[in-house]
Amino acid sequence: MTKYYQGINSAMIHGGRLPEDAAHAVNVPIYQTSTFRQFGIGETVTWEYTRTGNPTRAALESLIAELEGGQAGFAFASGMAALTAVLSLFKQGDRLLISSNVYGGTYRVLDKIFSHFGITYTIADTTDLNALEQSITPEVKGILVESPANPLLTITDLLGVADLARRHHLVSIADNTFMTPYLQRPLELGFDVVVHSATKYLGGHSDLIAGLVVVRDQELACRLAFIQNSTGGVLDPFDSFLLQRSIKTLGVRMDRHVSNAEQVAQFLIRQPGIARVYYPGLPDFKGYAVNQGQARNGGVMMSFELKAGYAYQKFFKALKLIVLAESLGGVESLVCHPATMTHAAIPEEIRRKVGITDGLIRLSTGLEDPEDLLNDLAQALSASKS
Ligand SMILES: *Cc1c(COP(=O)(O)O)cnc(C)c1O
Repeated sequence: MTKYYQGINSAMIHGGRLPEDAAHAVNVPIYQTSTFRQFGIGETVTWEYTRTGNPTRAALESLIAELEGGQAGFAFASGMAALTAVLSLFKQGDRLLISSNVYGGTYRVLDKIFSHFGITYTIADTTDLNALEQSITPEVKGILVESPANPLLTITDLLGVADLARRHHLVSIADNTFMTPYLQRPLELGFDVVVHSATKYLGGHSDLIAGLVVVRDQELACRLAFIQNSTGGVLDPFDSFLLQRSIKTLGVRMDRHVSNAEQVAQFLIRQPGIARVYYPGLPDFKGYAVNQGQARNGGVMMSFELKAGYAYQKFFKALKLIVLAESLGGVESLVCHPATMTHAAIPEEIRRKVGITDGLIRLSTGLEDPEDLLNDLAQALSASKS
């Protein structure tokens, strides 16, 4: 189909469409069906069974592929199902390099599930390209990074990692959940695979669980399609529809999320009760320059550390507007306590070493009026002072 647009906002609304359906619906219909009629044995069919392919899901898959600039997209029932499919590209004896503050669930599935199949991992400092290259042994076949990473917003030089991966014939995988293709496109920086927990900003309304994968070349596309159909963790037609509905407003949502986050970060750095603010949009943040070179801006996610004398339990109890919950990326502001929630699966000594202290609070700034968010944070901070 001819494209009558250039920009990513137009792509989010008009991209990835399948040919028109019989009723000429403006939106992709929900094909709520497990199977499709066949007209004869051996005759070619476009759709046969929804695990293998479904038009509503296929529209979403081609949309995310277009937004990330990849060859093909795949939709899964969760971010972890997406990661599990991607990790299934590896085989017994293979080793992956992962960064030390990778998403807790990613660490857990590698440590407790894939290790049983002989696929191992090495925790590496992906911010130091020389050290990273040193940790490549003959059995290393892949590298998995997040930038910014969870929960300290650590920035990895994606161009550098992609280049290193290419030189050592490693499959490079970027979990782009925190940024979305609106803010950062790892395939354009040379990565092979992009993974999303679409549960977060892509879904954006805290009402669905989904995962997406995009690959850069046809060979990976064929392998991923085979894995998706064989292991079966696919996204259902209704959630595939909902996710397309969400993605149409991704650009406007992210613009407001980021502007609210910038105001919150500026507020937090001035508070006496706060020891540190980790936010890639602050010019004195460690990875600021690298992030500016590979992403549109500093994104939304931030973490901050309470000073001694401020009790995190009281802080969470006192919040009135901002919701204490797992997850991120919703229209409502969400906070969590990484040490006991998202990163509880990571052994304590590793946690402390990388800086996930008890006073660390992660914030996903929502779309509320910024003044209301600042007021809530201010009153919770004063209530937490012991
Ligand atoms: C939430 C999350 C995941 C897991 O996604 P689910 O949709 O919860 O299965 C993976 N990576 C990152 C960075 C996440 O934030």
